[in-house]
Amino acid sequence: MPDSIRHVLRAQQHPARSVPCPHCGAKEHRPCMSRSKTRQLSQPHPGRISAWARSTAVCPACQVELDVPCHDGGRALHDGAVHPEREAIAGEVAA
Ligand SMILES: [Zn+2]
Ligand SMILES: [Zn+2]
Repeated sequence: MPDSIRHVLRAQQHPARSVPCPHCGAKEHRPCMSRSKTRQLSQPHPGRISAWARSTAVCPACQVELDVPCHDGGRALHDGAVHPEREAIAGEVAA
């Protein structure tokens, strides 16, 4: 693969790859894998994006600190999900 193409691919990596994936066990900076572990996924698992957003940004929607899961009226969001606003801010921090 020519270096120029490789560079473009790297630039398009999702910033959530900077954290390990709790869903498929991918290590930092490694792509998520399909369930059969035979195929690399172009996008991280939602749980990885949530984990990354939790460790990168505080949440403007529910006002929690770094590494604290989002909640809605005191109940944690399903599956450790984060508010969309938090994910958006995490993307700005990473950019
Ligand atoms: Zn994954
Ligand atoms: Zn939140």
